[in-house]
Amino acid sequence: MTTNDYDAIVLGAGAAGLMCAAVAGQRGRRVLLLDHAEQVGKKILISGGGRCNFTNIHTVPERYLSANPHFAKSALARYTPADFIALVDAYGIAWHEKTLGQLFCDRSAKAVVAMLLDEAAKGGVDVRCGAPVRGVEHGDGLFRVTFGDRAFAAPNLVIATGGPSIPKMGASGFAYDLARQFGLKVVEPRPALVPLTLGGEDVLFRELSGVATPVEARAGKAAFREAALFTHRGLSGPAILQASSYWRHGEPVTIDFLPDAAPGWLVEAKRSRPRATLAAALGGVLPDRLAQTLAERLALPGELGAQADRKLAGAETRLKRWTFHPNGTEGFAKAEVTAGGISTAGLSSQTMMAKSVAGLYAVGEAVDVTGWLGGYNFQWAWASGYAAGRAL
Ligand SMILES: Cc1cc2nc3c(=O)[nH]c(=O)nc-3n(C[C@H](O)[C@H](O)[C@H](O)COP(=O)(O)OP(=O)(O)OC[C@H]3O[C@@H](n4cnc5c(N)ncnc54)[C@H](O)[C@@H]3O)c2cc1C
Repeated sequence: MTTNDYDAIVLGAGAAGLMCAAVAGQRGRRVLLLDHAEQVGKKILISGGGRCNFTNIHTVPERYLSANPHFAKSALARYTPADFIALVDAYGIAWHEKTLGQLFCDRSAKAVVAMLLDEAAKGGVDVRCGAPVRGVEHGDGLFRVTFGDRAFAAPNLVIATGGPSIPKMGASGFAYDLARQFGLKVVEPRPALVPLTLGGEDVLFRELSGVATPVEARAGKAAFREAALFTHRGLSGPAILQASSYWRHGEPVTIDFLPDAAPGWLVEAKRSRPRATLAAALGGVLPDRLAQTLAERLALPGELGAQADRKLAGAETRLKRWTFHPNGTEGFAKAEVTAGGISTAGLSSQTMMAKSVAGLYAVGEAVDVTGWLGGYNFQWAWASGYAAGRAL
C-alpha cells in the first residue's frame, strides 16, 4: 500500500536534505525525509575532525567549481554564511574561526546535527532511516518511492543523496542513477579535495612521508597558499587538497617551496654564508629532510661560495616552480568531496528544480557544484537545500 500523505519526499538526510526538509516543513509542507543509513548526517558528524567546519565567512561563487560557474550565485546569495551563523547562534552552539574564514564548533559536530533535527521536527518532518531505497517511479504527477518494505508517494521529490566520496560511510552514486532515470545529464564525477599520488621520478619524495611545509601549490589556473604534506603515497595537506580539485590527469602540479623568500635570497646567502652547503642554506628555511632531498636534486655540491650566481639563481627558480607529475589521486575512498555530478544545465538556479521534470529537485553535493576546502561545501549544502526548501 502506498502512503500518500506528503507534499515532498527528500531522499538523503545529510546536510542538504536536512536543511531542505526543515525549511519546507516550517513552511507548512508535509515532508518525508528518507535515508538508507541508520543515522542522519553522518558526514556532518565526522567533518572538520569531529568539530564540523560548518561555513566559511569568505564564501563567494568564485570559490566553487562547476561546468557553469554562475549557477551557484543565486542560492549562495539568498542563504549566506551569516544566515547559518544566526541559526547556530540561536541554538547557543559556540564556534570559533580557525583560519582563513573557516568556522568550527568549539565542541562537537553533534550539536549541528541535533540542531538540524530540531529544525526538522519544528517543521513536522517525518524522518525515516535505515532501509534501502529500492526504487523510484513517476507517473500521474506523483513520485513513488519504495523504502524498505514501504511505499510512499508525493508530487515532489528532492535528490539529496550526495556524491560517492567515502563509500565506506554509505556514500553512493545513487543520485546520478536517479538523475539519469529522469533524463538529466551528469558531469563526469571525479574525486576532489583528495591527496595526489606520485610515481616515476617523483617517487623519491615519498621518503619524506610526514614532512609538512607552507607552500603555494598550483594546478591549472588555481593557486593555493597553505601547507603541503608529503605522504607515503605522494602529496597531501590543505594546499594540495585544494589544488587537486583543479588538477586533471596528465597535468603537472607546481609547487613554490619558498613563497615568502625575497628574490635573490640564495645569491645573498652565498655572500653571507659562503662556507655553507646548499642543503644547509635550505635547512634554514625548510624542514631538514625536505631541504636535503631538494638539495640533492638541485645537484650543486660543495660550498655556496663555489657556485656561480647564475646557477644559484637557477636553483632559486626551480624551488619556486617545482614541478610534480602526479600519476593519480587516492580516489573516492579518500576524497572529501566529489567534483562533477548532476549537470546544472538541467536545473533552475533559483529553485534547484529540474527544468524538464516538474517536482523533481536536486541539492547539495549531488549537483555539479564543488566548493573549496574550509566550510564551502557545507555552505553550498545549506544554500541549495534552502533554495529548494523555499520552492517546494
Ligand atoms: C571526512 C570528511 C570531512 C568533511 N569535512 C567538511 C567540513 O569540515 N566542511 C565542509 O564544508 N565540508 C566538509 N566535507 C564535505 C561535506 O561533508 C559534504 O560536502 C556535505 O556533507 C554534502 O552534503 P549533502 O547533504 O549533499 O550530502 P551528504 O551529507 O553526503 O548526505 C547524503 C545523505 O544521503 C544518504 N544516501 C546516500 N545514498 C543513498 C541511497 N542510495 N538511499 C538513501 N540515502 C542515501 C547518505 O546516507 C547521507 O545521509 C567533508 C567530507 C568528508 C568526507
